Parts: sequence; C-alpha cells; structure tokens
Amino acid sequence: MTKSNSPFTVIRNLRQLTTPVTNGKPYLRGREMRNIETVDNAAIVINSDTIEWIGRDTDVPDQYTDDANIIDGNGLVALPGFVDMHTHMVFGATREEEFAMRCSGATYQEIAAKGGGINNTVRTTREADKSRLRKQTMRFLDKMIRHGTTTVEIKSGYGLSEKDEVKMLDVINMVKEDHLINIVSTFLGAHAIPPEYKEHREEYVDLVCKKMIPYVAKKNLTGFCDVFCENGFFTLEESRRILQTGIEHRLAPKIHADELSPLGGSELAIEVNAISADHLEHISDKAIEMFAKSDVIAGMLPGVSFYLGHDYAPARKLIDAGAIVALATDFNPGSCVSYSVPLMMTMACTQMKMTPEETLTAATINAAAALNMSRIVGSIEEGKQADIVFLQMPNYMYLPYHFGENHVAAVMKSGTWLEYR
Ligand SMILES: [Zn+2]
Repeated sequence: MTKSNSPFTVIRNLRQLTTPVTNGKPYLRGREMRNIETVDNAAIVINSDTIEWIGRDTDVPDQYTDDANIIDGNGLVALPGFVDMHTHMVFGATREEEFAMRCSGATYQEIAAKGGGINNTVRTTREADKSRLRKQTMRFLDKMIRHGTTTVEIKSGYGLSEKDEVKMLDVINMVKEDHLINIVSTFLGAHAIPPEYKEHREEYVDLVCKKMIPYVAKKNLTGFCDVFCENGFFTLEESRRILQTGIEHRLAPKIHADELSPLGGSELAIEVNAISADHLEHISDKAIEMFAKSDVIAGMLPGVSFYLGHDYAPARKLIDAGAIVALATDFNPGSCVSYSVPLMMTMACTQMKMTPEETLTAATINAAAALNMSRIVGSIEEGKQADIVFLQMPNYMYLPYHFGENHVAAVMKSGTWLEYR
C-alpha cells in the first residue's frame, strides 16, 4: 500500500477520551475544575502536530477519513499529556544514603548539619560538567514521557554561583532543543544560601539581584524567576527583592511558599502577582481567600509531603474557596524522587481529598497555565498541540485508583507517535 497523501491521522476505536473543557479559558478555578468532558467510543483527528477534531468514532467526518492514516486506538483511554509544572530534575547525584539515614530516624536538619540536603546536591552539581548533566537529564525525560508527561518545567538552583547557575540553565536549554518533551526553564538562584556565603548572606542576595538576574534575562536563558521563601533559606524581605528584581528584568515570578512554616510567601505571591506559588503546606486561611480572588496558581506538591512525612497542603480548602489549583511532582534528589504524575494524582485524591476530575485538571490545563503554556497544551481540544496519552485502563477514574503501575501504552507528542506496548 502506498503512503497516504492526506495530512490527517485518525485515531479510531478509543474506549474513552477525557479532557478538561476550557471554553477558551487559560485555566479552571474552584468548582470549574470538575468541568471535564468524557467521550465514549471516541476518535481523534490529528493534522500534522495539531488536534483537528474530536468526537465519537461513528461521527468522524468523511473528509478526514478519505486517504488518511488510520490508527487503531485498541480500546485505550486518551487523556491530555501531563504537564509537570515544578521539578528540579537537573542535579549532580542522587542521595539514597541520606534517605537511609532518615529511615533510621535522622531529621532533615541533622542531615543538613552533616553536609547533606541541598548543599550536598550543590556540591555534586558544581562538580558535574554539562555533558554529564545533559545525559542524565535526557534519561529522566525519556522515562517521564513513558509515564505520560509531555511538558515539564525544570529549575536551576543547585549551582548557586553565577557560573554554575548559568551552566544549569544551559543544560536545560540544551535538553529543550534535543528532547521531544516541551521544556520550560526557571531561574532559581535563590534556592539556598550557598555555604561560602553563610556568614554574609546579604552579599549572596546582592549577587542574585545585581549579577545573576540581569545576566540570565539579558541572555534570554529563562522567562521565570523563583525563590525559596522559608526560614533558613530566604526571608520574606529578601524574597520580595529577588522577585521584584526579576520582574524588572521581565522574568515572571514564581515562589516556593509556606512549605515548612507560614512565613507569608503566599501573601507575597499575591502582592507581586506571581504566576504560581507552590507548596503552600502552611498557607493561612486569609491567604486562601486571597488566592480565590487572584490569578495566582496554587501548585500542590503532595509527593514531598508523602516522601518527607510532612503535612499536606489544603488543596480541598483552596478549591472550595475558588482558587486555581495545579499539581506537580517536584521531582528532585532530596524531597521527592518520583516523576510519576499519576502517582501524585493518587496522593491528591487520598491525602488532599481532591476528586479524580480535579486532579486531571490540576495536572494538565492548570499546570500548563502555571507555565504560560495553556493556549497550546493541557487539554484535548481542537487547535491544540497533539500531546495525548493513551492508557490501558477502563476509564479515566482508574488512573488514580490503581496506583504504582504505569498504565501508559503510548504517547503522541506534537503529532509524533511513541508506542510502548
Ligand atoms: Zn521545588
């Protein structure tokens, strides 16, 4: 048979297609997060890298099927590709020895005092050259896409010197060129005070604001600036200065807020109109109300609470109040060593009392909005990039229900078909 000349690929015989319905909105907030559409016995028409048509298999218009590439969906369930809106996946080495110490009762603080924690990763990341970091990151990305992730944010923040932060952003931009996954970089020079500045931290904040931010902005290495606002990391005042400096250089603010204590990072996120504020395990009730009235996206990272045995963020309260809630892995070598978005969906359901529908919205369209990407990805709607996950399961609710198993059978990324089994 000769290859078809039609621009269309038609995926037929899908058991189900489930997607958030945006009606052109960049995100869904509060109650709207349950607005998902399910089509049984579905078909999808792809035109090159774009979704052309979705609907019931019996309703596919003839114009698409004539001479098209027809692919059998084999009774799989189609969902939008997952968007992991918060990761630290470029790092020098893993830290399983520290994990073992924690299992034997050592606290995060005790491990940090012995040179562990972020400082350990800073040391190994400074030692690693770009090609090694690139190779490891490519390997992670290959595995992530097999778990259904088609867009991922990656932060710097383990270099903590001008040279090493730029090195990390260079690596992120290299894998962005080389990998099929959509990659978004974030500058996180303010992840921790590096050990050599421990006694004069204000000089490091100066370095971030006067040298690093202007440089990474001028060189166009990223569009986002993040800060870890927490006791022992960056104060509220320092965080404000860092995010404001980022804004002056056209870097959209993101923040790690209220993870270990209610320091006020959530309120700061509202004040500077951050694109997202992530963690929020200790967000105040007042700030929850503020999120409900703002466009700041609340990024939930339940994998960290699970992994460290900490409290979970009040996702239920945020959604009930009317906030825009997103979900991510926070994949990093210390506090969440997992890049499985479906696993995070299970935790969001069982530990944070979100519904399966809300977790799907949080891990797709709302996560895409936290990266300024929701016009292109985050839902299976006509005109969007063809980023679609095909899963071997009876329906979308099965995904968070049956955890610890990878149900992904195939992924279509920008119209390119990756088949696994
Ligand atoms: Zn983080």
